[in-house]
Amino acid sequence: MKTLITNIRLWDGLAEQPTEGAALLLEGARIAWLGPAEDAPTGPGTDIIDGRGGTLLPGLVDAHVHLAWGGETHPQGPLAAALAAAAAMLACGITAVRDLGARDHSAIAAARAVQAGQAPGPAIVAAGRPLALPDGYVAGVAVEVADPEAVRAAVRAQVDAGAGVIKVIASPVPARPGLTVPRSFGLDNLRAAVEAAHAAGLRLTAHAHSLPGARDAVLAGFDCIEHGYRLDADTIAEMARRGTWLVPTLVAMEAAQAPFWGDDQPAGTRQRALERWEAAVEAVRMARRAGVRLATGTDAVALVPLDAVRREVALLVEAAGLPPVAALRAATSAAAELLGVAHETGTLAPGRRADLLLVEGDPLADVTALKRVQGVWRAGHRLAGRA
Ligand SMILES: [Zn+2]
Repeated sequence: MKTLITNIRLWDGLAEQPTEGAALLLEGARIAWLGPAEDAPTGPGTDIIDGRGGTLLPGLVDAHVHLAWGGETHPQGPLAAALAAAAAMLACGITAVRDLGARDHSAIAAARAVQAGQAPGPAIVAAGRPLALPDGYVAGVAVEVADPEAVRAAVRAQVDAGAGVIKVIASPVPARPGLTVPRSFGLDNLRAAVEAAHAAGLRLTAHAHSLPGARDAVLAGFDCIEHGYRLDADTIAEMARRGTWLVPTLVAMEAAQAPFWGDDQPAGTRQRALERWEAAVEAVRMARRAGVRLATGTDAVALVPLDAVRREVALLVEAAGLPPVAALRAATSAAAELLGVAHETGTLAPGRRADLLLVEGDPLADVTALKRVQGVWRAGHRLAGRA
């Protein structure tokens, strides 16, 4: 089965500029060819799709989701909730996600179901349960550990359950209001997690909304920092030196602070909300200037809607000042690299899996074009309908 998508603007996930008047040939699950429309190989049995006015790009990647978050309240349970979220994300053109945890291993089960072709969804790299200090995360979600030996055992338990990445709550979050928790998971504990995860061939990422946890995770050798809302120049310089990724999740910060920065709010509340937002934006600006690798993530569906990666791309441009092409790389090729799936997806090239998004207009000129979905292909299979 061959399909030619022709008369398109094509952006491959990397180039500075899209190519006008292009075409792309799919064969089975893979991209077989791409180039100028007039050179397109056609023949009997090739379906032709005229994509005039549209841009074809790699499917989007959301590197920070929680597919099964709150899924215990779903009538069919957390796996059904995770699969429903996965299918809905795919319909928006999100073709790969990294799931950063919930209270059970439903996201790992969802990853297997999608991989086996039993359910529609993005490719899923799942963390299983996060690791946290006792009372150091939302109650009932994390595996609670207090010393390096317990940390190593908890990492191995996630590996044995089929995790594709390890998540650690490096900046503790009090399990209950009024509780005081340390400001970091602790350097020795973080180092133990790095040893155990890297020994199993997995990357680690750190929930780090505040500076002490972020700094310790970077120094311990974590591969990635989530949120990083309070990163300072020294920690960012260290991340650039080590090649540590940043997934800034500005959309989650916006969702948390925007209700409090309106004119109707008391001056103190308003000022604190704006200060938190501006610190988070400044961290992304500094990271960008320092050359830290950025990837898009959102906290969908725990805190924001399941299509929030589109808003994250827009915030990286409008708030943090990234050129659209840099924000789009963070949402495609760069994020695929972070997930360890760049050999398969995240760019358009012959041999890559055909995980594609066709949108009306030119997202490199106006990133809100990502909302105008005209077609989504996952492993060469076109989804019915529009989103
Ligand atoms: Zn999260």
